Amino acid sequence: MTTDSAIASYLGLAIGDALGATVEFMTPREIAAQYGVHDKMIGGGWLHLKPGQVTDDTTMALALGESILEKGKVDALAAAQAFDAWMRAKPVDIGNTVRRNLLQFRKTGEPHAPYSDHDAGNGAAMRVLPVALATLGQSEDAVRAACREQAHVTHHCALSDAACETLVLMVQDALQGATKNDLLHRHSHPLAARHPEFKFRAVRQSQNPSGYVADTIQAVFQSFFDTDDFRSCLIDVVNRGGDADTTGAIAGMLAGALYGVEKIPEEWLKVLDTNTHRACEEQAKALIYLTNSPNNSRSG
Ligand code: MN
Ligand code: MN
Repeated sequence: MTTDSAIASYLGLAIGDALGATVEFMTPREIAAQYGVHDKMIGGGWLHLKPGQVTDDTTMALALGESILEKGKVDALAAAQAFDAWMRAKPVDIGNTVRRNLLQFRKTGEPHAPYSDHDAGNGAAMRVLPVALATLGQSEDAVRAACREQAHVTHHCALSDAACETLVLMVQDALQGATKNDLLHRHSHPLAARHPEFKFRAVRQSQNPSGYVADTIQAVFQSFFDTDDFRSCLIDVVNRGGDADTTGAIAGMLAGALYGVEKIPEEWLKVLDTNTHRACEEQAKALIYLTNSPNNSRSG
């Protein structure tokens, strides 16, 4: 059922974030020396987190989701205001591009950041999940436009857009019963064909992926397509180190949507921060409800 898969996608995002944050900015070699295989939700890391605590990847997605629920649609100004309030509340971590363009928004009140090929970080891609749920059933053009509406608040960049739109379409297809092979052929290969930066086959295994969105997507796709269950996918991606909370979050979002909530390991679910767990479930349900409401525009 779509609602259950939507909840699984949200919980996957949060779990990948919390699991990966422990080893963020470490190399695979450092992770292996310290943990063997990192597979327990123990917190710590450079942010000194509590076990099960999430970071900006999850909290920005939740902030965006709140703004969508308030407006009844994806709206750049509402998203910018929600992110600004999120930043004022002193989040545990924040990306440089996010901070810079939100400070600019505070000054100008303009929610669309200026175009820059340099803003190709993964900060817009990591928080796209609520857009996937809110625009389920809409035309592909409308879905892509909604992706850009939220992304351009902080990342106005062609590569970031391509990643955000691909991830959202993948989540939507997975929620509607697509197989992993469908996702590969409908979305991931076409993305790499359009933008060779995203090539993930016949290239080296992506170790220590940076915050560059192409690095992030490459690691996520390799882990997602080369494993067969939620747990293996997340363990594979976070043990590559680098921007591990974000690769974990994005891989968890895809794996949650594809495999469903019953495949999420109990050992991780029970450690996930209780308030975050509740917020993810409630927001997933509310966004699916919005999608199904008769007033929701399907023409975009
Ligand atoms: Mn983070
Ligand atoms: Mn990160």
